[in-house]
Amino acid sequence: MSDSTSDQRPGKGRVFVRTDICKGCSFCIDFCPTDCLTFSNEFNAKGYHFPVLSAPEACTGCDLCGLYCPDFAIYGERWKDIDARQARGKPQPVPPPAAPPAAKPGRQAPVSADPKGVLTGLHFMDGDHAACEGALAAGCRFAAGYPITPSTEIVERFAARIPMVGGVFIQMEDELASSIAVQGAVWGGKKTLSVTSGPGFSLMMEHIGLAVITETPGVWVDVQRGGPSTGLPTLPGQADMMQARWGSHGDYEIIALVPNSPQECFDLMIKAFNLSEIYRCPVMFMMDEVVGHMVERVEIPSADKLEVVPRKLTTKPKGEYLPFATTSEDLVPEMTKAGEGYRIHVTGLTHDERGYPAMNAATQDKLVRRLMRKIRDHAEDLVDVQADFLDDAEIVVVSYGITSRIAKSAVDEARQRGLPAGHLRLRVVWPFPANRIRELCPRAKVFIMPELNMGQMVIELERAVGRQAKVVSMPHAGGSVHEPEAILKTIIEAAS
Ligand code: SF4
Ligand code: SF4
Repeated sequence: MSDSTSDQRPGKGRVFVRTDICKGCSFCIDFCPTDCLTFSNEFNAKGYHFPVLSAPEACTGCDLCGLYCPDFAIYGERWKDIDARQARGKPQPVPPPAAPPAAKPGRQAPVSADPKGVLTGLHFMDGDHAACEGALAAGCRFAAGYPITPSTEIVERFAARIPMVGGVFIQMEDELASSIAVQGAVWGGKKTLSVTSGPGFSLMMEHIGLAVITETPGVWVDVQRGGPSTGLPTLPGQADMMQARWGSHGDYEIIALVPNSPQECFDLMIKAFNLSEIYRCPVMFMMDEVVGHMVERVEIPSADKLEVVPRKLTTKPKGEYLPFATTSEDLVPEMTKAGEGYRIHVTGLTHDERGYPAMNAATQDKLVRRLMRKIRDHAEDLVDVQADFLDDAEIVVVSYGITSRIAKSAVDEARQRGLPAGHLRLRVVWPFPANRIRELCPRAKVFIMPELNMGQMVIELERAVGRQAKVVSMPHAGGSVHEPEAILKTIIEAAS
């Protein structure tokens, strides 16, 4: 516990900071009414900057910082209360220790990919087809979909390839049916894929919530196009990014990946399947029309070079297995499949460890907290970014998907002109890599975020940056992409 004040008793109170348990979320700084807190330049043992009292004379001891701190890592106290407490002989209160972070999920040892699904070789293919090949290489053997531009080519290829690999594709009557058919196949033992775009993604949202609460793994592809509604079916957008995170109902955490090339459609698709098995959750694969239809070189290695995470199937005796039981060391339950002789009950109702409905506040609290913690506590493990020129960058362009390719060319041009620009590309957007952004803040003066929507992920960027730097949004309604000159112009303006 550090006492952030001097002995001269400046201000009306003081703050105490448990630097060791602070996770650098900046809530205390953002909510301090007198702006007397800032982040220290030091890191704690967890790698986070922690708050320090930079203007002690302004601190009133109001304890709003303590009220908003999610980890009980800070609190404020008025001098008169401190004096009264000391007069009574009471020691300085110590914030309770934070709950220990969840241990890593019991990781299934990866195995080599099944050669039947791996089209080893050099190819010239578009992102949609590469995504399909990634799914097959990851072991996906069941897909259900309803055709919708610009995602249709993924399932068209799956339908053509799956008879040779061994598996099933069903064209369902709509996206509602597709998104529930895949979950039945998972409980039958398959790895599954569902694919859609635009309005189809909205229709799938109800069942994505079901997959969350039943802990049904699987990958859900959204090849984003211009919206809302039918919008621009053949032209790009990135306006479903918040829907991927918040589109279903209830409280939950989600994982979402964003490729920016056909090669990454293959590579990240395998990663998406692996993450869905590790965390037993639906994983969103957020492509866009340009990446989906862009044709480039795709290298598919041999099956023994590809690591695939198998499902964490239980080996417990039949009488002992509980399908939703976890331990304090591992918040991800073991799975089984229908027909193996284990008793399973899978319901969207709030359920206990047996899977039986238990509709009361205590079970709800326990279940929802675990569903969120199994991902949230591992947000740092999930960070996947590409950094260019960030060591000395004062202007940082943050981007993802097709926009990242344009942003990178603008940053390259800015560097050639001698401007201190850098680029951070997000390959995993959810959970948002807030701490990675904050690490850049002591040096970065301006963050610029171009995206093919009217300002979605920039909200997360602003939350991460807080008041430490300026954030410039570059919205675009979709239908085309940003001009690199426009991003370069924004960098030049930021530098001047
Ligand atoms: S006690 Fe109040 S004034 Fe002092 S740092 Fe906390 S929020 Fe700010
Ligand atoms: S609110 Fe966040 S930054 Fe402030 S002390 Fe708590 S954990 Fe640390």
